[in-house]
Amino acid sequence: MPQPLRLIETSPNPPARADVVVIGGGIIGVFAAYYLARRGLSVVVVEKGRIGAEQSSRNWGWCRQQNRDARELPMATKSLELWEQFAADTGEDTGFNRHGLLYLSDDDDEIARWARWRDFAKSAGVTTHMLSSRQASQRGQATGRAWKGGVFSPTDGTADPAKAAPAVAAALMKLGGTVHQNCAARGIELEGGRVSGVITEAGTIKTRTAVLAGGAWASSFCHQLGVQFPLATVRQSIVRVSPLEQRLPDALAGPRVAVTRRPDNSYILAISGRGRVDPTPQLMRFAPQFVPMFAKRWRNVFPGGLEGIRWGHETRALWKLDAPTPMERARILDPKPDPAGVRETHRRAVELLPALGKAPIASTWAGYIDSTPDGVPGVGEVPGVPGFILAAGFSGHGFGIGPGAGHLIADLVTGAAPIFDAAPFRPDRFNKSAWGKVADF
Ligand SMILES: Cc1cc2nc3c(=O)[nH]c(=O)nc-3n(C[C@H](O)[C@H](O)[C@H](O)COP(=O)(O)OP(=O)(O)OC[C@H]3O[C@@H](n4cnc5c(N)ncnc54)[C@H](O)[C@@H]3O)c2cc1C
Repeated sequence: MPQPLRLIETSPNPPARADVVVIGGGIIGVFAAYYLARRGLSVVVVEKGRIGAEQSSRNWGWCRQQNRDARELPMATKSLELWEQFAADTGEDTGFNRHGLLYLSDDDDEIARWARWRDFAKSAGVTTHMLSSRQASQRGQATGRAWKGGVFSPTDGTADPAKAAPAVAAALMKLGGTVHQNCAARGIELEGGRVSGVITEAGTIKTRTAVLAGGAWASSFCHQLGVQFPLATVRQSIVRVSPLEQRLPDALAGPRVAVTRRPDNSYILAISGRGRVDPTPQLMRFAPQFVPMFAKRWRNVFPGGLEGIRWGHETRALWKLDAPTPMERARILDPKPDPAGVRETHRRAVELLPALGKAPIASTWAGYIDSTPDGVPGVGEVPGVPGFILAAGFSGHGFGIGPGAGHLIADLVTGAAPIFDAAPFRPDRFNKSAWGKVADF
């Protein structure tokens, strides 16, 4: 059974022109389009499959500042405000709730790291509470055991990945923006070196601004334009167990597994950072740039198999613009979950929260996480291609920071003062050095 997702109806026929064309209807693309439409621009979203059907509905739903890299923290803090503002402005339900995130540990080094992060976060105006052993054991009483310590971030929360991207797309359409599913963008049309249109399978849409929010497909799409954006996609597996009568914590990260409640009291189980890297031509091309990242995460990242080749999202082949592309052959990237990972995730979750043992596994799925060498996304205009804005490489954090990223994209497109400093996200930063600081979490 696939991951749950609200399906929305959209028009099959894109218009002939628009102020901005957004390629990709995940959380980043729809929020960017929403904030652009609010500024009175005509906006079109083209999505090769269904709105939200790739990473944006396959994730845990965590919207967190806790443990966030310093470069991303302002985006995370703003995003939490924007999730609330979006619901108030539109009445659309994304399932966003600031119920707080709870982390429990028995590891002194980890607890000390959290304390250091708390001190740093305080200087940025973010509150997080270190928990003593007594407090951690009390907050984590559903685990039925004592803990050395923990941390609780009261202003963080989750949104519902089954609802969020479709809700934003629905709000966009109410503002007059148009959304087109089963409509792949095959390429970008240039005139005098500047964007003049987006070529889709349903015809060309004339525009001076194209935003590529293509998730796991972004690098192979850029390659068609001669732009090299280093991405490696990591296949992470998720387990969902059936609704329980007993209420467990909304969002709990134990030492070896994380558990998230969904609105129907079903639970999402996953191992943070664990995944498989499937060898592909793209991986071979960018592998040297990912050495520091994989060296830091080697305990959790395992070699994969042929899934990456099978889906074709990391091809290095150049495709024709007047014939079906790999994106039309893979409308929804739906990789196989890793059976060993699924078993291990379930085992660890039941060990952490024994009540989960009463609920059968309802479904499993996987998603490809588009990761950059430093674990921070690339957002900004691509140098040398005026009018082409890239927003990809969200490295496993893009759902929670989707509203902030979307707002920033709208700022960059309209020339408004950026909602926070855009400099750390420059997409061309990898041209200089691949050996910059890798995000800690
Ligand atoms: C298992 C898992 C757990 C995660 N947990 C969390 C979490 O708890 N919190 C968090 O913040 N983040 C989490 N993430 C990361 C988060 O889901 C992503 O960073 C975020 O959803 C990225 O959004 P996106 O819009 O960039 O990409 P996507 O949601 O992948 O959307 C990209 C869209 O672009 C479309 N597309 C691509 N190319 C084209 C084209 N040429 N033409 C038309 N359409 C195109 C695709 O079909 C797709 O729908 C997790 C990810 C995974 C996989």
